Amino acid sequence: MKKEIINCKCIDISLEGYGIAKHNDLVIFVKDFLIGEEANVKIIKHAKNYDVGIIDELLTKSIDRKELDCPIAYKCGGCDYRHTNYENTLRIKKHNLENIFKDFNIKVNDVIPSENPLYYRNKTQIPFKDNKLGFYRKHSNDIVEFDKCLIQKEIFNDITKDIKELINKYNLNDKVRHLFIRQGNNTNEIMLALIVNTFDINNIEEIKDYLINKYKDTKSFLLNLNKRNDNVILGEDIKLIYGNEYINDIYDDIKVRISLKSFYQVNHPQMIKMYSKIKDLANLNKDSKVLDLYSGIGTISLFLAKHVDKVVGVEIVEDAVKDAKKNAEINDIKNAEFYYDDASKNMHKYIKDKDVVIVDPPRKGLSKELIEELDKSNIDKIVYVSCNPLTLHRDLKLFKNYTFDEINPIDMFPYSKHVEAVILLSLAN
Ligand code: SAH
Repeated sequence: MKKEIINCKCIDISLEGYGIAKHNDLVIFVKDFLIGEEANVKIIKHAKNYDVGIIDELLTKSIDRKELDCPIAYKCGGCDYRHTNYENTLRIKKHNLENIFKDFNIKVNDVIPSENPLYYRNKTQIPFKDNKLGFYRKHSNDIVEFDKCLIQKEIFNDITKDIKELINKYNLNDKVRHLFIRQGNNTNEIMLALIVNTFDINNIEEIKDYLINKYKDTKSFLLNLNKRNDNVILGEDIKLIYGNEYINDIYDDIKVRISLKSFYQVNHPQMIKMYSKIKDLANLNKDSKVLDLYSGIGTISLFLAKHVDKVVGVEIVEDAVKDAKKNAEINDIKNAEFYYDDASKNMHKYIKDKDVVIVDPPRKGLSKELIEELDKSNIDKIVYVSCNPLTLHRDLKLFKNYTFDEINPIDMFPYSKHVEAVILLSLAN
């Protein structure tokens, strides 16, 4: 039964980026299939309520199809839409949001595009295993090596190649677990970190000399110790090999430092557009008092500070809070304060006197506890920044005292299935 071939037509695209086809009322998810296309599809998996297939022969081609431009497309788990033009990826993302929110009376605006959807990622974390340094294959722990990845900064490709050679040269095969690279967009400063299972790395000085010599923008070279056996990439302890434990970047005339464990938006131009959107939606004025929950290194707070009376950020990663405080200090921003705390549990400590709350949680969304508290808060405006429309949808359903009428999607992660969205919740009269 397994290698059955079925003739079918793509009628929709799933949230995971698969084409959806139907055969005798059974749904088939087909990789790399676009709406309107017809194909002979080879069934590769029967699940309980659906089948999964791959295109055996494409019979009609969508005008939105484009040739694969990446040698590791669909081998690595990175991009979901390399087979279609960029404009179509934005239409798919909008359409998927409309599908998710079809039970709401809400308008989904066009996805704000990225001017340059290539080479945008300013951070990468590359696993090393079985003598291979590369990305994980989709739904697998196998590693796919690459010469060039089209969505991360180009210099990361060269660094990756060099690190692979250094690992081999100095026989570090059983010590290195990941390579971490981050580059400031306006400073070009590079942070390099090797995630290792021991700090006992012979030749680390030679490795350092080679790297800082070749990559002159390297301002931070670290080892990070992780002996755990789960899929959390970074460990607790850091050993500084060269430079500082952070790099600097500049956005909107604000200088920030970013440490290894701190979150920083991966797509710089889109980050600025998103922060402007947040500012516009919140309709701030000189008297506004803003609470920025899940504040990272304080980038939203510092961006808004000059337009408002006061901002307070709350963040659970200690190093990020230290970065945020330092960032306020180096920019001489006096009306921003940052606290190391759990925003999901302890908002009550910070909500007093505020009139705008911004929430920018990780993919899992908000806690029920926080939603209940926010919903009862009487705060005029809440701006929800979401990187996962499914948890956004789940969370919005729980707000009883707020109204919202528009979703503003931003393409933070071009060519992937992911989409960022900003929504204004206004207190109902
Ligand atoms: N607003 C920031 C960061 C957004 S990413 C920016 O635009 O850069 C989400 C942030 O939430 C991360 O920094 C993460 O460390 C933080 N975080 C996750 N769980 C948290 C919690 N329970 N309380 C506070 N912060 C949390």
